[in-house]
Amino acid sequence: MPRTWPEDWDTRRNGLGCPKCAEGRPGEDLWGVRFFAGRWADAYLERRPPQPGTAVVTFRGSRHVADPCDFTDEELTGYWSDVRTAAKAIERAYRPCQLNYATFGNAVPHVHTHITPRYLDDPAPGRPLPGWVFANAPVLEPDQLAEQLAQLRRHLPLRGT
Ligand SMILES: [Zn+2]
Repeated sequence: MPRTWPEDWDTRRNGLGCPKCAEGRPGEDLWGVRFFAGRWADAYLERRPPQPGTAVVTFRGSRHVADPCDFTDEELTGYWSDVRTAAKAIERAYRPCQLNYATFGNAVPHVHTHITPRYLDDPAPGRPLPGWVFANAPVLEPDQLAEQLAQLRRHLPLRGT
């Protein structure tokens, strides 16, 4: 059977050339703008959200981790706690009927989780969203992006200084 995955997949999973490790903790990237910087993870609102409030949470521990299986207990607890904080802000800001969480790592094998809100009028009740929803995602206008980021940040828990 011919190999279909990249020849360097194992080394990428091990962190060689990992773009998520290399980028540090930017306030924004090509796909989104950060609304939450936690102890263990950063959460970015997507600029081109398939559903309002779609976000990506990226692990920002002190090392490369490709899969949640490889987390230490402390990393595991910390990461998912920060995912929860981001998800609660999304729930409060957008009032979805359900949140979908996806931790694929197929393109970039560094732990990150896509959070996709679901709404009572969306096109696939009870099922995953179809691909055309992602393909047709609109790009947010700058004022829409700014307003939604402000709304999300207002719904984050207050933290001590
Ligand atoms: Zn990495």
